Amino acid sequence: MKRMLLGLGAMAGLLGSVGLARTAVANDDSATSAVPPATPEVAATRAPGTLGVGPVEVPAPSEKALRYHRSGNLIWTLEQALAIALPLLLLFTGFSAGLRSLASRLAGGRFYPTLLIYFGLLSLLLFVVELPLSYYVGYAREHAYGLSTQRFAKWAVDQLKSLGIGVLVGALVLWVPYWLLGKSPQRWWLWTGMLALPFYTLVLLITPLWIAPLFNKFGPMQDKGLEVEVLAIAQRAGVEGARVFEVNKSVDTAKVNAYVTGVGSTKRIVLWDTLLARLSPPQTTYVVGHELGHYVLGHVWTSVLLSSLLTLLGLFGADRLAGYLLGQFGARMGFHQLSDVASLPLLMLLLTLFSLAITPAALAFSRYHEREADRFGLELTHDNHAAATAFVALQEQNLSVPRPSLLYKIFRASHPSIGERVDFINDYRPWERGQRGQYEERIRH
Ligand SMILES: [Zn+2]
Repeated sequence: MKRMLLGLGAMAGLLGSVGLARTAVANDDSATSAVPPATPEVAATRAPGTLGVGPVEVPAPSEKALRYHRSGNLIWTLEQALAIALPLLLLFTGFSAGLRSLASRLAGGRFYPTLLIYFGLLSLLLFVVELPLSYYVGYAREHAYGLSTQRFAKWAVDQLKSLGIGVLVGALVLWVPYWLLGKSPQRWWLWTGMLALPFYTLVLLITPLWIAPLFNKFGPMQDKGLEVEVLAIAQRAGVEGARVFEVNKSVDTAKVNAYVTGVGSTKRIVLWDTLLARLSPPQTTYVVGHELGHYVLGHVWTSVLLSSLLTLLGLFGADRLAGYLLGQFGARMGFHQLSDVASLPLLMLLLTLFSLAITPAALAFSRYHEREADRFGLELTHDNHAAATAFVALQEQNLSVPRPSLLYKIFRASHPSIGERVDFINDYRPWERGQRGQYEERIRH
């Protein structure tokens, strides 16, 4: 799905489906509008849990938010249809086989140069074909809804950078499954699948250090007082020696986000400047508490492990189905072996279908992680009011619909809806009843 699938080599496409890339506090398919920050009442400094103990109400979505939500569903459907139709078109018109022949001629029939030229040209072609939709979804539409602050030049350069990174990563890894397909046609899926774990781990470690800074500036936190609070809450969650970064996402979007990532000396708490501008200090502290929850409870590593297992399963399924399809349509597609690099769109297609099939389960698992991170953040701060009002602010800024349909939940929601989250937050206060929290033993008081 999306260019990512091809860009990172077919196997990395599964990453998205299990939510590995997810770090946002909310579903991140929407950006943010310039809505005033928290209400003065919320922004007022106070001891956590002592004021504003009444339940927070979830406001009804605006007409604009509903329009954004509905058209978003339509776009999602279109993107899924394209992710299936494009590979089919490339395969059944014989285009993929033709492109491979061209690449092979240019490369003098050598394995790696053929693969490289084929992959480079295919990436470029898909980039161009998808450009109108990318422009509409990523730029024009966001501006039309007042959600984007990005200048066109920045958008265009970011697109080219993504393309470059995709081609580079593909050039580095794509030869592996194809080389294995040549050496071990029976077991290539097993060996490739076993490499998924080290590959995803590397991606996870490298992305915050070398990829994210290619798109935005990461600087020290400006508000030193808040930085002290952030480090204090991290310490209470058992995260020591982390650096705090403020990233200038305000050049792209008004959407808010934060994450905690890295190990050892690369351990970092990253706050978007948009979040710092929109949320009050107690709300920011809660969001950091939520992200610390993901980190401390090992959600990212669980996702990496699960993604690796699913990749293995997906490759196995793709291998079996591809065998059948090659038997049926090989002549039509112009290749008969999976080890032929012309089969790349076929592998993409099969992995896309697999990833679509497991999407509901993967999203349900992701929503479970989110609920637990919300719980952890509450047990850390005991500040239900700041938490609930943070989500209400998020809803208004992101044009979210607080109680979307069941269909949306099943196929698209990586996070519980804002309505569900605020309901949970209003309710969850075991410490007021003298009960122990679920993660009590992980928190230093
Ligand atoms: Zn989260």
